[in-house]
Amino acid sequence: MSSTQELYLKKIDTLISKLIFEKKIVEQEKDCFLSKKSGTHKLFSVIIHGNETIGLHLLEYILSNYDDFNNLSFLIGNRDAYLSDTRFVETDLNRAFLSKERISKEKKRAQEIERFAKNFEYILDIHQTTHLCKKEFCLVRRSKKSNNLYKSIKKSLNNFSLIYLNNKKLSNDGSTFSEFATEKEIGFITLELGQKGFSAEMFEKGRKILQNFNEATIKELPEERFQILEMYSDIKKLNQSDHLINDLQNLSFLTKETLIANINNQEFFMPIDGYILFPKYGIYQKQSTELCKILVMNEVVF
Ligand SMILES: [Zn+2]
Repeated sequence: MSSTQELYLKKIDTLISKLIFEKKIVEQEKDCFLSKKSGTHKLFSVIIHGNETIGLHLLEYILSNYDDFNNLSFLIGNRDAYLSDTRFVETDLNRAFLSKERISKEKKRAQEIERFAKNFEYILDIHQTTHLCKKEFCLVRRSKKSNNLYKSIKKSLNNFSLIYLNNKKLSNDGSTFSEFATEKEIGFITLELGQKGFSAEMFEKGRKILQNFNEATIKELPEERFQILEMYSDIKKLNQSDHLINDLQNLSFLTKETLIANINNQEFFMPIDGYILFPKYGIYQKQSTELCKILVMNEVVF
């Protein structure tokens, strides 16, 4: 018997085959499809993490209405992880970029994605968080093209918190798709639409952003002042038993000295008034070298 995931992918694959047959798209690398109309201008990617499934629902919608979205090339990041309903199969795909090794399924996959993605101008990468999320957010790395991309589609992102990253590695676990893109001078936004799972509201937000991305003319725009969240620190895991206190959510605000973790058998407190990002519990705590990140609010002009 086929699983729900297999059946859903079959549906997506049928829609893709139809568009290939109609000569609207072409498959350049495995699960990487180029828009024949606009080529390597705009790319959106889904399922870089296999269990963040909202992206696949958005992809199904776009494939079913492709004449309205035909400026967008697209890729399905990690089909095998989706089929097993896990974040990844062997290693985290979004920590497998810019690596010469081919020691895991995902490191090989990252190289296929790199070959396809390297010539694009702009990329939108759709994710969801593993844990609860107070508010949807996006991550933008400081670069001219990412700044322009953000400003060009900001009307559909107006309820999203903006996490603005300087060009430093996000994680010691490996390099992300966005780090690869920034190195190649590709404008890139990571969207975090909310906690993993499906809701009509989350789908509608994602759909509007993709519509905006499809239609936008991305160009140099006047400077503006933005309220942003920026990295303050990573909370590293020293021992396998180190853990966060329960119920920290993405972008929850905590004041300085609030207890947030137990590290090396000692209580660990917020070092500053700030926000929690990517809190890791359960299997995610086991797989990572860190427990969470801390963000602080700031303003930037770009
Ligand atoms: Zn993700």
